[in-house]
Amino acid sequence: MYFTSTRGQVEKLTAAQAIARGIAPDGGLFVPAAIPSVDEQFIAGLSSLSYQERATTILQLFLTDYMKDELKSCVAGAYGNGKFSDPAVAPVVKIDKGVFVLELWHGPTSAFKDMALQLLPRLLTCALKKIGEQTEIVILVATSGDTGKAALEGFKDVEQTKVMVFYPEEGVSRIQRLQMVTQEGKNLKVFAVQGNFDDAQTGVKRIFNDSTFNSELAANGFKLSSANSINWGRLVPQIVYYFSAYADLVNSQQIAQGDNVNFVVPTGNFGNILAGFYAKQMGLPIKKLICASNSNNVLTDFLMTGVYNRNRRFYKTYSPSMDILISSNLERLLYHVTEQDAKQVGRWLEELNTTGEYKIGDNHLAALKEVFPAGWVDDAQTTVTIGRVFKKYGYALDPHTAVAWQVADAYRGQTGDTTPTIIVSTASPFKFNETVLSALAGAGSFAEQSGFAVLQQLSQLINKPVPPALAALEHKAIRHTMVCQKQDMPTVVKTTLQIK
Ligand SMILES: *Cc1c(COP(=O)(O)O)cnc(C)c1O
Repeated sequence: MYFTSTRGQVEKLTAAQAIARGIAPDGGLFVPAAIPSVDEQFIAGLSSLSYQERATTILQLFLTDYMKDELKSCVAGAYGNGKFSDPAVAPVVKIDKGVFVLELWHGPTSAFKDMALQLLPRLLTCALKKIGEQTEIVILVATSGDTGKAALEGFKDVEQTKVMVFYPEEGVSRIQRLQMVTQEGKNLKVFAVQGNFDDAQTGVKRIFNDSTFNSELAANGFKLSSANSINWGRLVPQIVYYFSAYADLVNSQQIAQGDNVNFVVPTGNFGNILAGFYAKQMGLPIKKLICASNSNNVLTDFLMTGVYNRNRRFYKTYSPSMDILISSNLERLLYHVTEQDAKQVGRWLEELNTTGEYKIGDNHLAALKEVFPAGWVDDAQTTVTIGRVFKKYGYALDPHTAVAWQVADAYRGQTGDTTPTIIVSTASPFKFNETVLSALAGAGSFAEQSGFAVLQQLSQLINKPVPPALAALEHKAIRHTMVCQKQDMPTVVKTTLQIK
């Protein structure tokens, strides 16, 4: 299996080469040159396997230059050893007749980013050995909260890597900040940037694009790379849980082998839902992939009209991990839906760059509409949904999952589609405890309390234990106190790497 770029200017690479490089040198994203297909027997065979075995089986189809034993050991390190608090790793919970929740947040940071960021570092170090890369890889991360912590946990003490995370000093929640500043590990540093998320992100991008800076790093034995979902190594682990959820439903006789299912995905950068698209293309019987957004509804508009327009107001919402106007993985979908027309993809993204807008053709729009119904929900509806679902089923949704729930409800109401529906749940309700608690107990129910009291209060209310890693934050030593100005970020990187 070879990988090529969505902009078409790169010779075919192996999976190891694509994962080590992260982003294609022509500015595009790496995509599989052909999507492997599987038959019903393959899918049926997954039912008797553990999550780890399912993962190895599916990864093998894409990462053909990795030995089976290498993949097995990467997977064991990522999902074994009690790293995930649920032995099923990504369990499916039945909520109502034909309605299921796929819980992707039992990993160390309580958000779905762990599904990929526990595996990516292992695939990367394996890739470096394969291609004989000797230099140390420096991962720079700008984060609005979830990715930073998941990258720190994933890359902690991973050989031949260093990680630097930049978060906006005023832009992350209390729990998210504590998760990052208490992080242990020899190879990592965390910095608060004076500014907002865009300042941190712009700072990191500027470093990536500074060729003088990059050659200085290279002369000292370092290379930059990315842990964002533009890296193929972050996307491929996500394909696994679509198959795994299906196998679980067959096992529990909720569906028969071969039946269709729908997935509803709370979407930001289009990474999660795109993995579902690959699963569908491979042959998993998925009828619809429903794209759920918050008030930053650029994807809903795009999937309804074919016009992608980022010139619009940016909202800060209760589902912050979906607060995004430029959805970078959409580029991969455009490439596949145009049947690998890299030139066309390049033109659209160039227009996005210059005018902030592009429009796809009616034929492409029709093809997308067939697969991706879309909807969006504002903060008020999100809160109401959290309350309503808890009252009816005793199940607490985090705000991102609540967006998906409500979009699923609206879709079923409008279409009468009764296909079994799997709602993809991307965060533990404890990670966004204040929004969840105020949705359940009323605003102001915790105004005077610290973050940890809120965790306890939520735990009692929903009758579930606080995830141990979140509870432990209260007594952890603060290890990272460095604050920097955005213009000092390059200096900070050099100082950390001890480059004069
Ligand atoms: C990152 C994230 C999302 C969005 O996922 P994409 O792959 O960017 O679409 C949704 N919910 C949570 C909790 C997240 O952390």
